[in-house]
Amino acid sequence: MDIYEKVVAQERLTYEDGVRLYQTPDLSAVGYLANIVRERLHGDRTYYVRNQHINYTNICNKFCKFCSFYAKKGGPAPYEMSLETVRQRLVQHLDVPITEVHMVGGINPRLPYQYYLDLLRTVKEARPGVHIKAFTMVELIEIQRQAQKPLDVVLQELKAAGLDSLPGGGIEILSERVHQELFDRKLDGDGWMDVSRTVANAGLAQYATMLYGHIETLEERAEHLVLLRALQDETKHFVTMTPLSFHPEGTELEDIKHPTGYDDLRNIAVSRLMLDNFAHIKSFWIMNTPQITQLSVWYGADDVDGTVLEYEITYKDGELGNKKQGLTRRDMLKTIREAGRIPIERDSLYNEIPEIEEQVERASHLIPLAAVAR
Ligand code: SF4
Repeated sequence: MDIYEKVVAQERLTYEDGVRLYQTPDLSAVGYLANIVRERLHGDRTYYVRNQHINYTNICNKFCKFCSFYAKKGGPAPYEMSLETVRQRLVQHLDVPITEVHMVGGINPRLPYQYYLDLLRTVKEARPGVHIKAFTMVELIEIQRQAQKPLDVVLQELKAAGLDSLPGGGIEILSERVHQELFDRKLDGDGWMDVSRTVANAGLAQYATMLYGHIETLEERAEHLVLLRALQDETKHFVTMTPLSFHPEGTELEDIKHPTGYDDLRNIAVSRLMLDNFAHIKSFWIMNTPQITQLSVWYGADDVDGTVLEYEITYKDGELGNKKQGLTRRDMLKTIREAGRIPIERDSLYNEIPEIEEQVERASHLIPLAAVAR
């Protein structure tokens, strides 16, 4: 049976199908197939969330070659947010009705276990009712090391302090070759999957990602998707998959060419086709640009992420003249409607937020939509 027939019959695609979808020059055909699945699941509905990112420290002892975020000589200056700074960052945006705080940071061995518990409590106190999505699998291992307790106990304590879900990330791509070459100080694929299983057993939702466009092969991408799919069959705790476009600027891989829009759309489409047990595929507009994101909703994506106040992972100080990045809700609605889809506000677990009176959002802290295009 060929891939088109399998898609129409809702049959699972194989690893070999995945490689073919990556290899064919006919991106339109791949997008057409992905759109069949996307519209079967969601019609024209396109989700967004109002959220704020907090990157609590950029001090990190893992030195991943693909990372421009961690503090280094000639790179970003080191910082570690106090709880008061975190609180201020949150109250500064109290006029924006966010439903999610997304919080990740470097692996900073100076931060004690208590810091992480207090961090979660600080967020819940400053923004009662928000969903906290925090800590990659790599951070979790560091938190456990600081706690000196079993991971399942640590997860229960983090949960009691306010943790609601985990953003995934930390493995980039499930390939031992890439792990050895780019991030050998972090846990490997087997370790990542074990932590992920413990997260599922703790009753916490998780999100999945794939960093593409560095040294990975097309076969390794297909393998990553197949492994994620198998883990989801087992745990059923993944909510969304987000393919993440690699940004070489400021990393040790600066000579590598930036992934193109063609790559971005293909990764979204192939993810949609291969991950038949994931409800949602996200196009993260900060990584893909709002323009590619508009196209992506016809190539398999049903989610465009959020208003994202203050994201510091991929853009360096001064690069845009302003570190703060975000779209107002109005921008978000416009972006989705201009693409011919229906915007639906959601919370972190895809419960729909009832439409309320259009709110006037303070826009002075946000950069114009056009300025985030690369
Ligand atoms: Fe550290 Fe994460 Fe950057 Fe690796 S990707 S250097 S773990 S902050």
